Order: sequence, then structure tokens, then C-alpha cells
Amino acid sequence: MSDSPLKVNCPTCGKIVIWNEESPYRPFCSKRCQLIDLGEWADEEKRIPSSGELSESEEWSEDE
Ligand SMILES: [Zn+2]
Repeated sequence: MSDSPLKVNCPTCGKIVIWNEESPYRPFCSKRCQLIDLGEWADEEKRIPSSGELSESEEWSEDE
């Protein structure tokens, strides 16, 4: 068996996301899906998110 890359499903759209440096928004497939999940998609067009996001995943543990 080769070391196939870990794959996850985007929590927003369900698309397959390869878990490596090519997927900077993992587990989301894209920045759009990340923003949708955070509920900030509507705001994204109005203001650019400041740097320093992307490290709050531990606080996001809702189970529906
Ligand atoms: Zn997605």
C-alpha cells in the first residue's frame, strides 16, 4: 500500500478535500465554504477578514 493522502469531506458542501498543504482551508474545500460555515459569508464581500483566523477550530464543536 502506498501512502495515499488523507481525504476529508468539506463540512459545508461535502466535496472531497485532500488533507495537505494544497488545501489551505481544510477541512473546507475553499475559503468560501469556510466562511459559510462560520456564518461570515454574507460579510465577506463587505469587509476583508483580518489575518489571524484559521486557528479557532477547537471552539467549533457543534453537533447540530
Ligand atoms: Zn466545500
